[in-house]
Amino acid sequence: GNAALMFDAVSMTFPDGTQALDTVTLAIQPGEFVSIVGPSGCGKSTLLKLASGLESHTSGDIWVDRDSLGYTFQDATLLPWRKVLANVELLMELRGFDPAERRRIALEQIELAGLSGFENHYPRRLSGGMKMRASLARSLALNPAVFLFDEPFGALDEITRERLNDELIALYTRQKFTGVFVTHSIPEAVYLSTKVVVMSKRPGRIVASFDIAFPEPRT
Ligand code: ADP
Ligand code: ADP
Repeated sequence: GNAALMFDAVSMTFPDGTQALDTVTLAIQPGEFVSIVGPSGCGKSTLLKLASGLESHTSGDIWVDRDSLGYTFQDATLLPWRKVLANVELLMELRGFDPAERRRIALEQIELAGLSGFENHYPRRLSGGMKMRASLARSLALNPAVFLFDEPFGALDEITRERLNDELIALYTRQKFTGVFVTHSIPEAVYLSTKVVVMSKRPGRIVASFDIAFPEPRT
């Protein structure tokens, strides 16, 4: 079938001459959840930025449906002057969803995120884990086909991080998006993913890739 995300011999050099990626070829099938691991500077973030269109590649081909893309960073990037509900409605607002429809979807996503009761709180009153849950809810409200995660749990304490790993598995099992998850943590990658892709640096390349067999099916 058709890949959800495809990199074909993609190279990328920044204007200052730094080569971030060297002939990266990667095909991610619909429903896969792929983690990308590797040392700092190996091009993990650059790969996500190219997939999202935030940066442009130098050569090769990229295919992804950018109309249907979710993207989350380590910094949850909630708007501080909007309450949780209005933050979760934000992307739907920008897409012109009908107000009643976006309210319904936002409340549903807030409940799935375990944030019921916090709709009218400002982000500053939330813990780091709750901010991240709200940020995920905001993206999931658009029902993205592909979801890019750039080290989203890197700033959270270990217990919160483990909880969010389980919550994320539940969310992707339910909403069935294709995931690309950048992390420094190999245990996290192995725990979350159907496939782990390993990169090395100077310049950024894929050096290994392996499938994870789950002890029980996640359906
Ligand atoms: P990772 O996410 O794996 O830590 P990055 O994708 O952030 O790696 O960076 C890959 C390489 O590109 C690194 O050598 C980094 O220093 C370089 N780089 C990242 N952003 C820029 C930029 N805006 N200009 C020049 N070089 C950059
Ligand atoms: P558009 O016409 O721009 O695609 P719509 O407001 O018609 O926008 O929304 C698209 C459809 O996707 C709606 O019918 C909505 O119910 C559905 N939808 C989108 N995200 C979700 C979600 N997270 N949960 C349930 N339904 C969703």
